Amino acid sequence: MEKTQLNILVIDDAPEYHELYRLYLQGDQEVSYHFLNAYNGCDGQKLYQENAVDCVILDYRLPDIDGIEVLRKLARINSAVPVVMLTGEGNERVAVLAMQVGTQNYIPKSVVTPQALRRTIQHAVERAQLMQRVEAYRHELERSNEDLQRFANVVAHDLKSPLRAIAQHLQIIRNDDHAILSDTSKKSFEFAIGGAERMRQLIDSLFEFSKAGFEKRAFELVDCNVVMDSVRSNLASHVTESGAAITSDSLPTIMGDGVQIMQLLQNLIGNALKFCREKPCIHISARQERDKWIFSVHDNGIGIPRLSQDKIFTIFKRLHKEEEYPGHGIGLAICERVVKNHGGSITVKSEPGSGSTFLFTFPVHKQATQEKAT
Ligand code: ADP
Repeated sequence: MEKTQLNILVIDDAPEYHELYRLYLQGDQEVSYHFLNAYNGCDGQKLYQENAVDCVILDYRLPDIDGIEVLRKLARINSAVPVVMLTGEGNERVAVLAMQVGTQNYIPKSVVTPQALRRTIQHAVERAQLMQRVEAYRHELERSNEDLQRFANVVAHDLKSPLRAIAQHLQIIRNDDHAILSDTSKKSFEFAIGGAERMRQLIDSLFEFSKAGFEKRAFELVDCNVVMDSVRSNLASHVTESGAAITSDSLPTIMGDGVQIMQLLQNLIGNALKFCREKPCIHISARQERDKWIFSVHDNGIGIPRLSQDKIFTIFKRLHKEEEYPGHGIGLAICERVVKNHGGSITVKSEPGSGSTFLFTFPVHKQATQEKAT
């Protein structure tokens, strides 16, 4: 079996330790070690930069810069290479400092044995390889998400114009030939026009859903009271139709994407108006709990059975037939994406027949709080 080759950079001011590590690691059945030797931090950094290093054995005490500083400098060059920190001090403080800078491998020189050194290096290299694979998958996922976004854009764009043409032509035929159409044909036309309209809405919602995940606008200070004013005006016709009462406490200013935050509140309040059998009463509030704002949108609607409460945030999941309550099952999936994009989470508390309270969090932003105070 061919041996695995590992390039080890040893940074230690004492030549005897270079020799000791070579002795400890040579003769391994599975791994052949090749050594690069540096006797101070600056030379170590140079060798690290110029060579393909698989693992670094680093002493804490060096003549020029201390080991923690070297660790920081190496991480700036390439943070994917594992570092095994060895020190004569053997104290907890160094271990904690090393961990804070990112190394998870620490052996006091007093307890280092051939087995301990080999095992630590092999684990460190395996872990680093695993991390690299995870990182590669993350990149791949990001790329395929971008592909999906592009696909959604193209589909939405390309489907929209033929769909618009179909709807317009159906309407022209229905209007022009109204007199000669049989009752059955009239019904079929109504059905086809309604179907085209529903498909348009579905494409629009899907487009919104894909945008909520990928469109990256710069975050800015967003006054949620102002957002609420826009939501009220956007939903004005529904509010008048249903005779709803929408009240809200004073809401905070947060850091985020104003368009997405408006979409979030509008979807939740839109649902509160829709899933209600009596005059809707909706209340929006927010309270601060340590470093987060907890927003709540409370309604007096039909409520949601416990077992379904987790599922409703999944795209296309609906609990009612289209004839009962219209919709596409995308609104809450968009809400969840928006909240996650801002580093928060969303849940619902509800009992069938006793209304629902949607709770979502946003991080408290220092600048937003300060601006509010001044
Ligand atoms: P849509 O409203 O288009 O059906 P959503 O993703 O917004 O899609 O909601 C998913 C499902 O969650 C709804 O179909 C409904 O069954 C349930 N739901 C959402 N909001 C409420 C609410 N305020 N009260 C009762 N049920 C709700």
